[in-house]
Amino acid sequence: MSNFLPFSRPTIDEATIAAVGEVLRSGWITTGPKVQTFEARLSEYFGGRPVRTFNSGTCTMEIALRIAGIAPGDEVITTPISWVATANVILEVGATPVFADVDPVTRNIDLDKVEAAITSKTRAIIPVYLAGKPVDMDRLYALAAKYKLRVIEDAAQAIGSTWKGKPIGSFGDFVSFSFQANKNITTSEGGCLVLNNEDEAKLAEKYRLQGVTRSGWDGIEVDVLGGKYNMTDVAAAIGLGQFAQLEAVTAQRRKLAKHYFEVLGKDFEAQTGAQLPPQDFESTNWHLFQIVLPERITRAEFMEKMKAHNIGVGYHYAPIHLFKLYRALGFKEGMFPVAERVGRQIVSLPMFYAMNEADVERACKAMREVLAESANSH
Ligand SMILES: *Cc1c(COP(=O)(O)O)cnc(C)c1O
Repeated sequence: MSNFLPFSRPTIDEATIAAVGEVLRSGWITTGPKVQTFEARLSEYFGGRPVRTFNSGTCTMEIALRIAGIAPGDEVITTPISWVATANVILEVGATPVFADVDPVTRNIDLDKVEAAITSKTRAIIPVYLAGKPVDMDRLYALAAKYKLRVIEDAAQAIGSTWKGKPIGSFGDFVSFSFQANKNITTSEGGCLVLNNEDEAKLAEKYRLQGVTRSGWDGIEVDVLGGKYNMTDVAAAIGLGQFAQLEAVTAQRRKLAKHYFEVLGKDFEAQTGAQLPPQDFESTNWHLFQIVLPERITRAEFMEKMKAHNIGVGYHYAPIHLFKLYRALGFKEGMFPVAERVGRQIVSLPMFYAMNEADVERACKAMREVLAESANSH
């Protein structure tokens, strides 16, 4: 019996583990020089734009909304197919989440539906790049300009992704990344925000630490309500080691994705009724390799049977608007039919840096068997 193949697993190299040990022995383990270096490294990668780090990708988006001045009475448009954090941050600042349905092929927010959802109260859009695949960035920013909207890009999954050759984060408005354990590069938990200018960056620093401004060695003032969202040097040491692997990680994931398509073959969709992701080896960092299952098999049954083959499968994501918290706000079944179908049948196959082509072949073989079985039993 072969080993269990998880759907995701972080790879921390020995140099990074040693660097973390050094921080732990240094006597300074909270925010300090490692955070500064990590922010400088990231800023360089994002074309010199200001970057600040935080202890999660979630608070990163919440702080961007606060800097943009989004408040009660404002509407923010986002996708129902994301981690619930994306919509929760809108509620967190007291604004009103408005969902726009997704595109059945990319599974990202449909920009035509976004435009149709804009009202006089709309102030911002939060697009999500599911599996690392960007939306049409030209169209996104044309819409934002036309209706004078702020954009908070939930690029949690998109580090290493590009648009027309430029890294996601190197252009645009606010761009938020997550370094949670399963993301392409991790700090165990953490995130960063790319901002437009130093004034916004200063404000981000305040929101990150109790609204405090320091002047001189003993001067301290508080003029906005901030929280406790700073990244530690322990986390930043992990981040620096991970960031050094970014290019290799993205290349390996693209190679694995390509191999999935090769092994499954061009008739896979016609043979099984499952829907593969768009073949994109340019812009996508392949954070996830997701397929939408045919209706004849439930997601739970598929996951269970894959597990019996020793293959881990992830679920990203249940439609946000159908959670109790959101139903209580008036959202219900039937409002976003594409998201509801995709959200019911989508699964994430194994995809991580340390995986090899034989692992892809194992996952494909198991998937073919499970899908063939479900065809025979119906
Ligand atoms: C991971 C993720 C988040 C949240 O990031 P955390 O660092 O876990 O707070 C938000 N949105 C998307 C799309 C994500 O994948």
